[in-house]
Amino acid sequence: MEKRTKYIFVVGGVISGVGKGITASSIGLILKNRGLTVTAIKIDPYINIDAGTMNPTEHGEVFVLSDGDETDQDMGNYERFLNINLTRVNYMTTGRVYQKVIERERNLEYKGKCVEVVPHIPLEVISRIKEAGRNAKADVVIIEIGGTVGEYQNMLFLEAARMMKIEFPKDVIFVMVSFLPTPSNLGEMKTKPTQNAVRTLNASGVQPDFLIARGDTSLDQKRKEKISMFCNISPDRIISAPDVESIYDIPLNFEKEKLSDKLCEILETSCKKPDSKIWNKWKSFANKTHNKKDFIKIAMIGKYFETGDFILSDSYLSVIEAIKYSAYSQNKKAVISWVNSEDFEKNPSKLKDLKKYDGIVVPGGFGSRGVEGIISCVKFARENKIPYFGLCYGMQLLVIEYARNILGLKDAITREINPKSKNLVVDIMESQKELLKNNLYGGSMRLGNYKAFIADGTIAKDAYKTKEITERHRHRYEINPAYIKDLEKNGLVFSGTSPDGHLMEIAELPKEKHPFFLGTQFHPEFLARPLTPHPLFTAFIKACIGNSK
Ligand code: GLN
Repeated sequence: MEKRTKYIFVVGGVISGVGKGITASSIGLILKNRGLTVTAIKIDPYINIDAGTMNPTEHGEVFVLSDGDETDQDMGNYERFLNINLTRVNYMTTGRVYQKVIERERNLEYKGKCVEVVPHIPLEVISRIKEAGRNAKADVVIIEIGGTVGEYQNMLFLEAARMMKIEFPKDVIFVMVSFLPTPSNLGEMKTKPTQNAVRTLNASGVQPDFLIARGDTSLDQKRKEKISMFCNISPDRIISAPDVESIYDIPLNFEKEKLSDKLCEILETSCKKPDSKIWNKWKSFANKTHNKKDFIKIAMIGKYFETGDFILSDSYLSVIEAIKYSAYSQNKKAVISWVNSEDFEKNPSKLKDLKKYDGIVVPGGFGSRGVEGIISCVKFARENKIPYFGLCYGMQLLVIEYARNILGLKDAITREINPKSKNLVVDIMESQKELLKNNLYGGSMRLGNYKAFIADGTIAKDAYKTKEITERHRHRYEINPAYIKDLEKNGLVFSGTSPDGHLMEIAELPKEKHPFFLGTQFHPEFLARPLTPHPLFTAFIKACIGNSK
């Protein structure tokens, strides 16, 4: 019998930001655990073709896929929870869908027809969803529609979902993730906003099959019944999802409510018994996230951290998770402090405060703001033997610091900041020159998977234990080959290079000189997974434990 792919649409009710992405990822995991092949799609309703041109303060992290697509952080959640690699077909924006339809129209693919918003846009959405399912040979495709119901922006995607339900009535289901507020003056959980959200969804011709009830606390039986009555959802398909300490508990909590059984039943798909091997590993990982002692203190240094009164930790979600996974693997809990590098520019005496941290991470970044502050931190970490891990910009700034203070090239800098400097230790890649001249910014960096070779007898080799690696990239500049010999002569080791030897991928100081002073031109954080932490992050954390105060 032909395998019929099942589609689970996840939509948001009331407000966004209550964990739709984690819900979608968790549903994926519990189904994977029942022997099903699962893939996931994120739909972002904005016009941007991808997340690459957006400021992190606008959008949070740009998650880079192996094929170089610059996407939303939820894609990272899917990859981490499901332990799979997704591609650009798994990510959709309004801009991307319209661009394709217009391209088709120009190519006469609609054969002289009038091309209309409905049905041609939803049909393109549907064809992408099916393609993602086919590519992954998926039993189940989970599709998260960004935003909340009732928004003008995501209407065409809901329309696509409605049309799919007509095409495959037995194979399409809807899960609404809704928020139930408990106003402090009432002290009582209110269901009315959720009732209204379900009605709004009904107005799009869609009936939710499940409701995930997010709130500060659990949903009680009385309110379950009320929602059931007014929203046409049986009480056993209303799942209480109160706030939790760790997002990794969520799949476990869902299974306490037997959600995978209920999903398999409604989808009429034969699920296997839970795979105890995966499940037990996940449980023991989730347990470690509750560790309340054995801290390791990490300073994350950069800009972009603040917006108004809030810290934008979302901009570096993958880095945070990668640090945590490696810390958990060493039975430690990472406590990450956000340090604004501009503070060191205003007040260099603050540098000594860095001594209280067990390790320092400088994540990726762009532009000149706060860079001198970061460079002074790199110097401090090098001279005081504090473990330092630089990711992308963090590696470029490591090399600049070394060139300035060891090679004596006081004006060493990157072309990104000062193209007039005599010592452009970090320079534009040949392939990028034309693009920039023509203002071609979107999707034009060195993006996605590239191979690198690892040199023997290095920290990198100790960590990876292999000669050849593949890691994800997102940068326009590179270490200038003209300076490499001098840097090496003066002690810096390029332990990872592109296979042709031209591009420097990893820079480090030998273990005898510094416990961990290493930077990568790529972004290892994108490959860190809960059950398989990234080897370089683990090597860094081990060095931090050695340095632990
Ligand atoms: N701004 C640097 C470049 O484009 C580093 C980019 C990054 O850190 N992702 O090369």
